[in-house]
Amino acid sequence: MQYEAPCPHCGQLIFVDAPEGADEVELQRKAQELCSCGMARFEQMKVRNGNKLKEFAGNEFKDAEECKVIMVESILALQNNSFDRITLKRGRKTYTLDLDKDGFVRVKSKYAENTETKF
Ligand SMILES: [Zn+2]
Repeated sequence: MQYEAPCPHCGQLIFVDAPEGADEVELQRKAQELCSCGMARFEQMKVRNGNKLKEFAGNEFKDAEECKVIMVESILALQNNSFDRITLKRGRKTYTLDLDKDGFVRVKSKYAENTETKF
């Protein structure tokens, strides 16, 4: 059966195929698989450990969904071979993203102490 279900992230209504009587959770999960918004793509991303990536992005960017989206776009660009390495800076933190030899995402983060002193 065809249903119209909202993406759990952006709320966009998406047509999904599901067995009759499928519940709301199942329909939303299917909508998420088909939606192209940043957070849906984040959920769809193929990584060795999706939960770890989610945990990482959740901790690093808990106040800023747009930062998670940019990280997703960066990882996709690496996986498409558009870039070999991407560096993102936010405040005092620098994230360097690349792929390891097996094609899995690697993120190195560095925290810079501000050592400037003014007299
Ligand atoms: Zn969406």
